[in-house]
Amino acid sequence: MRLIIFGPPGAGKGTQAGLLEQRRGLVQISTGDIIREAMKNETPVGKEAKAYVEKGELVPDTVVRKLAENAIADEGYDDYVLDGYPRTTQQAEWLTEFGEENDTPIDAVLSLEVPDAVIVERLSRRRVHAETGETYHLDHDPPPDSVDPDLIVQRDDDKPETIRNRLSVYREETQPLEDYYADRDALVTVDGQGDIEEVYTRIETALDERVAA
Ligand code: AMP
Repeated sequence: MRLIIFGPPGAGKGTQAGLLEQRRGLVQISTGDIIREAMKNETPVGKEAKAYVEKGELVPDTVVRKLAENAIADEGYDDYVLDGYPRTTQQAEWLTEFGEENDTPIDAVLSLEVPDAVIVERLSRRRVHAETGETYHLDHDPPPDSVDPDLIVQRDDDKPETIRNRLSVYREETQPLEDYYADRDALVTVDGQGDIEEVYTRIETALDERVAA
């Protein structure tokens, strides 16, 4: 199965894509994770992306396209969930073409719906493990005592002013993709509020209904 998980920053895309990987055997392909890794390793792509990511802006389409297409090809073109790609109409069009060329179109686009107030609260309380990238929420999913507290950090782009910018970029550039995929009869909306397992159950139900339809 080939899926996209879609929604505003902080909607829980990464968390739910991780569960789809563990439980449905889909490989999670996160362009955000790929970019952060490239930044950590100071590769040419990482150096180019840094200024955009730190301001909460999108990395240029042509750069991200290559990262996403290479990652999909590396996984054999199937059984993946794209997390954070596509984010612009141009990226979506390229992805549609890529699917057509390889005869592996996207099966469904899961859209996680979460109100802005919940997003700001989630992102400002989000922390990550500096080495593993594991994410936590200070109130709902705190890091265990066994983890060295010095390794628990806040992503630079989770600071309040950057969160606001990421949300406005999302509204302008990414939200229109809902219509793009609704027009192609691929959109499946899921309520992204509530606890992680609750949302995951909704996703499973929505996917099963779609497969049965
Ligand atoms: P994420 O972890 O998905 O929130 O991504 C973190 C940052 O990486 C974003 O704020 C962008 O700067 C960049 N990024 C990730 N995916 C994309 C994409 N598909 N297009 C452009 N920029 C991206």
